[in-house]
Amino acid sequence: MAEKQLLLEVVTPDRMVLSTEADVVVCPGVEGQFGVLVGHIPFLSALDIGEMYYKAGGKTEYLAVSGGFAEVTGAKVTIVAEAAELGHMIDIERAKRARERAEKRLAAGKTADIDWIRAEAALRRSLVRAKVAGR
Ligand code: ATP
Repeated sequence: MAEKQLLLEVVTPDRMVLSTEADVVVCPGVEGQFGVLVGHIPFLSALDIGEMYYKAGGKTEYLAVSGGFAEVTGAKVTIVAEAAELGHMIDIERAKRARERAEKRLAAGKTADIDWIRAEAALRRSLVRAKVAGR
């Protein structure tokens, strides 16, 4: 059975978050969610801020990812993310504080475009982290 599995690696600038076998990997692509099974054609996609998951041995594990790229080559899926956390790595209180900060900035109204975009992205990261931590 081993040859029918994918090797999934999730790396960030700080660390190797995960290296595991998986039956299927589902990622938040910038153009929508996509799934990878063994035999997928070579493929590269930019990732959005979102939830990704993989299934292995009947179990599903979720991660929060904060943008980056997914590369599929042969039976290997490499996720190079700006940040990525499995549920147990997520500090829920920290995500809550990040959410509150971002909401405050957004509620203050639109000042500079760049601040607005940053605050929106921070809000989305915090919401995805809360969702993944709650699974
Ligand atoms: P914060 O404002 O709390 O730092 P952030 O969204 O700005 O949140 P990022 O820049 O996306 O944080 O991530 C910086 C580093 O901190 C990454 O290594 C990321 O995995 C980690 N990180 C961010 N938020 C959390 C969290 N709630 N729990 C655990 N790790 C986190």
